[in-house]
Amino acid sequence: MTMPQTVDLAVIGAGASGCMAAAAAAESGAGRVLVLEGGDKPAAKIYATGNGRCNLTNLDQSLSHYRCRPEEAGILERVLSAWTNDDMMAWFMDRGVLLHDRDGYVYPRTDQAATVAAMLVRTAEEAGAEIRTRSEVRAVQRLTDRSAGTGPRFLVRTDREEIQAHSVLLACGGIAGPQYGCDGSGYALAASLGHTVREPLPALVPLCCQPVQGMKQAAGTRCMAGIRLLCDGQTAGEEKGEILFTDYGLSGIPVLQLSGLAARALKAGRRVSLEIDLLAGIPEPVWARERERRLDMAGHAGRRTLGDWLLGLIPDRLQAPVLGRYGLVREGRLYKVDPSRLARILDSLRAFTMEVTGTQGPARAQTTAGGVPLAEVSGELASLYVPGLFLTGELLDVDGICGGYNLRWAFAGGRAAGLAAARESRQERGQG
Ligand SMILES: Cc1cc2nc3c(=O)[nH]c(=O)nc-3n(C[C@H](O)[C@H](O)[C@H](O)COP(=O)(O)OP(=O)(O)OC[C@H]3O[C@@H](n4cnc5c(N)ncnc54)[C@H](O)[C@@H]3O)c2cc1C
Repeated sequence: MTMPQTVDLAVIGAGASGCMAAAAAAESGAGRVLVLEGGDKPAAKIYATGNGRCNLTNLDQSLSHYRCRPEEAGILERVLSAWTNDDMMAWFMDRGVLLHDRDGYVYPRTDQAATVAAMLVRTAEEAGAEIRTRSEVRAVQRLTDRSAGTGPRFLVRTDREEIQAHSVLLACGGIAGPQYGCDGSGYALAASLGHTVREPLPALVPLCCQPVQGMKQAAGTRCMAGIRLLCDGQTAGEEKGEILFTDYGLSGIPVLQLSGLAARALKAGRRVSLEIDLLAGIPEPVWARERERRLDMAGHAGRRTLGDWLLGLIPDRLQAPVLGRYGLVREGRLYKVDPSRLARILDSLRAFTMEVTGTQGPARAQTTAGGVPLAEVSGELASLYVPGLFLTGELLDVDGICGGYNLRWAFAGGRAAGLAAARESRQERGQG
């Protein structure tokens, strides 16, 4: 029987944090670094990020753009401050990935995510890490009979082989994007090694809403809006920006930003709704005058329809759902509707409510809410339970909003864990 191959560090998952960890570990003398990737191409998800442009970080580094338990925020802060945003951007630029920003959102100058993916893979490989694709890891087992305390600590199993490793770094991502290889199997591996897993839920994901009369025809309509997330009637979050009405509900960046909170609240059995201000950006005094003018118009309506009456306030295709709430249609005659009802219709434009029933699920999600608690890892993302084990990226229970925050977390954490694994490996080999 052939002996399993032995490596110093086995990185599981060649995504954002895994490639970064492998590069950092190999560059700082970790010894033999092997990356096992289930898919047939490394860094597959990175190619899809930022609509193919890869929004890899943001100039605004406020921690308020991340969601994690307040008592665990110290770990997030330690990881991000150990490798600052400037350090990280310099790292990319030193390796030929020039950067530029739009309103603080940082992209490669080429506006091609492929630039970032290719550079990461090349850096890891040039530093000596081996990336083995089509190698989905099925199990990681702790080895108890370490000879003189220095032998390999883990046995890693794929369908094709068994590998012994001194250290293991779990970088399997979460449940977001199963089409890029993230099926949540990393959680099972972490749990099998003794870690807790808080239920992973899709986040940065479009929301499904209860059908609204006339909304099917409005699908595809975009609108600048303010949105307020209500959980059991209490405000849980607010955002502003361009939202997108769809045949299943709502999308657009402001909706995605609130989706993790919505998913958690739905899971907890709370009633979740979105209150949409379709007139966002119109100052109150301006709206007060315009409201008066529209109500006045009703006094001498002539042959005007309700559609004519609403013209210019909201996109035409939203008129049907707005009027449908009052049992009215766009073609209806304005003179037939009494003034108090018209006033209520105008007021509803400031608070158009949609009941949220669910999310579009992992395949449409950009990240995961939930995962392994940050309380179970050190500031270098080493497991506090299992010596030689590291956990990075989306696998951990922290999620960023849109704007480059999730990749920033994955890269900074990957680097921290990769360097720590390398240091351990050098010590084990007596190289300081
Ligand atoms: C469509 C889309 C667009 C996005 N855009 C942005 C953006 O512009 N900016 C931003 O900051 N974030 C963005 N994100 C989020 C960001 O890509 C992720 O948060 C980040 O990639 C997570 O890094 P990770 O290393 O934890 O996991 P991933 O990058 O997801 O990598 C995990 C890897 O592990 C592999 N794997 C999983 N299980 C196993 C196993 N058992 N054995 C072997 N391999 C395994 C997977 O195949 C995958 O390659 C986007 C996400 C999506 C889906």
